[in-house]
Amino acid sequence: MRRWNGWGDEATRYPLPDSAVRYLETVIGHGQLIADATFDQVIAAVPQSSLTPHAHITTDPAERLYHARGQSLPDWVALRSGRIGVFPGGIAYPESDDDVRALLDYARRAGLCLIPYGGGTSVVGHINPRANDAPALTIDLSRLNRLIDLDEVSHLATFEAGVCGPDLEQQLKAHGYTLGHFPQSFELSTLGGWIVTRSSGQQSYHYGRIEDLFAGGHVESPCGPIDLPPLPASAAGPDLRQMILGSEGRFGIITRAIVRVQRRPEVEAFYGMFFHDWQSGADAVREIAQAQVPVSMLRLSDAQETETTLKLSGKDRLIKWAKHGLNLINYKSDRVLLILGVTGSKAATHHAYHEATSIARKHGGFMTGATIGRLWRKSRFLTPYLRNTLWERGYAIDTLETALPWSKVVPTAIAIKDVIRDGLKERNERVLVFAHLSHVYADGASIYVTYLWRRANDPDETLQRWQLLKRAASNLIVAQGGTISHQHGVGVDHAPYLKAEKGELGLKMIEAVRSRLDPDRILNPGKLID
Ligand SMILES: Cc1cc2nc3c(=O)[nH]c(=O)nc-3n(C[C@H](O)[C@H](O)[C@H](O)COP(=O)(O)OP(=O)(O)OC[C@H]3O[C@@H](n4cnc5c(N)ncnc54)[C@H](O)[C@@H]3O)c2cc1C
Repeated sequence: MRRWNGWGDEATRYPLPDSAVRYLETVIGHGQLIADATFDQVIAAVPQSSLTPHAHITTDPAERLYHARGQSLPDWVALRSGRIGVFPGGIAYPESDDDVRALLDYARRAGLCLIPYGGGTSVVGHINPRANDAPALTIDLSRLNRLIDLDEVSHLATFEAGVCGPDLEQQLKAHGYTLGHFPQSFELSTLGGWIVTRSSGQQSYHYGRIEDLFAGGHVESPCGPIDLPPLPASAAGPDLRQMILGSEGRFGIITRAIVRVQRRPEVEAFYGMFFHDWQSGADAVREIAQAQVPVSMLRLSDAQETETTLKLSGKDRLIKWAKHGLNLINYKSDRVLLILGVTGSKAATHHAYHEATSIARKHGGFMTGATIGRLWRKSRFLTPYLRNTLWERGYAIDTLETALPWSKVVPTAIAIKDVIRDGLKERNERVLVFAHLSHVYADGASIYVTYLWRRANDPDETLQRWQLLKRAASNLIVAQGGTISHQHGVGVDHAPYLKAEKGELGLKMIEAVRSRLDPDRILNPGKLID
């Protein structure tokens, strides 16, 4: 059963080893054990729904609670403190295009707004109803979850858009195919959600980002249906697919998506490699990307993330020996870890591995073999569960991300970490901050920053600490010319920073499309653009 106030399945736990707790206590201080609101308390406070009874809409308080918030830090504070504020008035589970169309009509007639809901894993407030809008009806797309067609000649698969990651891959696996889109939220997030938030999977270097994988599909907009034919390429004017990508539930509801799939690879492997410091690691991954070596993933942690990852793993004895060995060969405390992935045939992965490691060696890279890569792979979708454990131990954790040209990557990453590390000084609180380069391109890379700080007894204070950190980092990102989001999207949290990237006229272009498709402002008001 899914957790109502945290990440993932209730049965899955990610315990924090004692040594890791001691480490956090040393770096940011003792975490207080603060009681959270219970499910019963929160349910008892769900207000009466204002929606009139409808055969296809449930107003059950538990359903409304489950769909009230996503996974952003403000969402966590709201859920854990029981101060949720606004709930959707009801939830509908459409099973066809006709159902979606009927719900759009109903919303228009009843004066409701509709919030499309995929897996609810948004980290920027995408699916939250807002206080001053019309009552919200959440459209949960989870019943639209089937593989409808697999064109094995063209390698195109048509899915209903509410399918979540594991179900999508399972249905393709039965035919020997994969999509290869693996965001860390894979367990819960959905195909439709990936498309409208321009999501990026961990091996996007090989498989492509979702904009490369999304070939076409069907969208139900308030003004009528839009069919996007799956063309390999087209010079026939602006690409309508690109308008749906990143539309965050404002332009229409994707009911079906046609995606580019591949035969399952013969080999999918990950390896760990150390560098003396972050700059030499960054130089190596840039050269690998610019030489177009066909690896599938290059994930370069900074020294603090390398150290913290080792500490949180709980494998104290193994790590002690590994560190001893690394020190002996001169990989000291500035050492950084690269996880290198290869995907494809035996021959192609062998070739890619050798090309990449020979470039890495020129920059001081030291190959450690497959153990670290195997450990990373084993926990790649489990690490979000650490958020539950940390929270219960008195620590809040959040991440933010950007992407910039290579010439700005390392200095900007350092500057972001500095503003976050110092961000709570005036409150006498310390922040643990670390980063990795998560996706690399020939011309630049994305920077993924994780930060931890202590929760306060007062949920408002916990939230204010986050606001201080997030605002300082976001302002800096924008001032450096970085994007406010490489993969999480805009939602409400990033909306104030969008103008810096799109410009005044650019925002008007987006608004013009929105108002043409949804003149009555039915769909997801306030997200992306207000
Ligand atoms: C622990 C964790 C790890 C994450 N890791 C990654 C990562 O590695 N890469 C990455 O890109 N993101 C990541 N994310 C962010 C999040 O998972 C993505 O933004 C994801 O694409 C959201 O998909 P979803 O199905 O959960 O959408 P939701 O959160 O349900 O909705 C997001 C937006 O999409 C709209 N929407 C959903 N389905 C449809 C549809 N069919 N038609 C129209 N609009 C729709 C909603 O209205 C909303 O605006 C992570 C989040 C968490 C919590």
